[in-house]
Amino acid sequence: MSNTNYSFFKSVETSFDKAAKFTKWDKGLLEQIKACNSIYSMRFPVRMDDGRIEVIEAYRVQHSQHKSPCKGGIRFSDEVNQDEVMALASLMTYKCAIVNVPFGGGKGGIKINPKKYSAYELEKITRRYTAELVKKNFIGPGIDVPAPDYGTGEREMAWIVDTYASLKPGEIDAAGCVTGKPVTQGGVRGRKEATGLGVFYGIREVCNMPEIMKKLDLKTGIEGKTVVVQGLGNVGYHSAKFFREAGAIVTSIAEYEGAIYKADGINEEELFLHRKTTGSILNFPGATNLAKNTDALELECDILVPAALENVINGENAPRVKAKIIAEAANGPLTPEADEILTAKGSVVVPDMYLNAGGVTVSYFEWLKNLSHVRYGRMEKRFTENLNTHILTQMEKLTEKTVGDKERSKILHGPDEVDLVHSGLEETMVSATREIMDIWLSNPDIPDMRTAAYVNAINKVATSYTELGIFP
Ligand code: NAD
Repeated sequence: MSNTNYSFFKSVETSFDKAAKFTKWDKGLLEQIKACNSIYSMRFPVRMDDGRIEVIEAYRVQHSQHKSPCKGGIRFSDEVNQDEVMALASLMTYKCAIVNVPFGGGKGGIKINPKKYSAYELEKITRRYTAELVKKNFIGPGIDVPAPDYGTGEREMAWIVDTYASLKPGEIDAAGCVTGKPVTQGGVRGRKEATGLGVFYGIREVCNMPEIMKKLDLKTGIEGKTVVVQGLGNVGYHSAKFFREAGAIVTSIAEYEGAIYKADGINEEELFLHRKTTGSILNFPGATNLAKNTDALELECDILVPAALENVINGENAPRVKAKIIAEAANGPLTPEADEILTAKGSVVVPDMYLNAGGVTVSYFEWLKNLSHVRYGRMEKRFTENLNTHILTQMEKLTEKTVGDKERSKILHGPDEVDLVHSGLEETMVSATREIMDIWLSNPDIPDMRTAAYVNAINKVATSYTELGIFP
């Protein structure tokens, strides 16, 4: 933000206050929920490959301990500052509450551009950061559990768990000190597609609600709905894939180099390969190139999925956005002004705060796996398959009919880790959507789904505080 007076944390507080008006909680309790409980601002020296010593600026914020541990990613970016980390930590508290993940919110940041450092320098920075967190008791499976965020991934998480485990010899649950690890280091299968799949499950549930579809003059269900996706990265690619597989028609995809349109639908996998070969999504066989990549946002469609950057729909282009449902897959794709314009037009904006919570939900499953020390499905897969074989054999005997091979393998299949992770994610996103909708539809004064999501989060965190006896 160019405006130096702008505070991301204050803007989160403003959204919170807007929603708090629809709750009945004590003012003091609301103040406690908003506040960041612990802020660790640190500086540490790291010797670079050329022999120089650089002082690194880094943060870890624990916004709320109403549930333990705290949870939230670590980002590596030039833009990191305390205000941003505080805001992101508070959003994690609300996000976790909405999707019933029993964690408080946390967030970490290291103020570096990772592209400017060698892998060895990044490893030293990450390990030293972890050691600082250990020294101050700011990390641990029961204290605070980081995860990947902007600029970090599996590799950094593997360094963190290795550093933590070597500083805490004998700690049996050490693997649960961080999530987003490689599967070989205690990660969970199904993490990669989790956010895109969560977006799909959330929107499918909205589309299955007759009262909302009636309001939007749409038929219930996903099948046949037209979808536009901005961004063919992790979230955009997987969202497009799950919508297409469920029978929706992905008519347009936008990337930074341009956008394409194909009325009978784009196969994201073929487009991905086309981009890999030609270096661009443009000139995809059977599709038309649009003049500008932002034109995709303004196309006639049922569902628009911005899955790339923040603030892409703003006061300038929002009046031209025609989508009836806006699925906030990215973080903050709408400015507050755009939000108001689209809400006034009658569009339904499904908010990022819960819609892109697939990642943190599956992180929770990874942490549970680490604490239980057993892969999901290991205990029940074979048992379920044996039982299903027995039931099917008996049914075939009694009916004197046999089931075809494809159906047979579907019926017999016992759950693998990825099946259980997907099913847990589906349950989470469906329940979260219903809870938010119930709040929105039961109070005509609540203007939009975002405010309803905040109300839901505030109610849950406040209830948790009162149940702890802190605010009787
Ligand atoms: P990514 O880097 O894999 O994908 C982003 C894509 O957007 C890239 O392919 C990039 O080329 C494209 N892009 C960049 N500028 C563009 C432009 N002007 N127009 C169209 N496309 C453009 O990142 P991601 O993990 O898919 O994350 C996307 C968004 O989702 C971010 O806002 C992120 O914070 C949010 N998010 C991601 C996760 C996750 O699990 N990955 C979880 C929650 C939220």
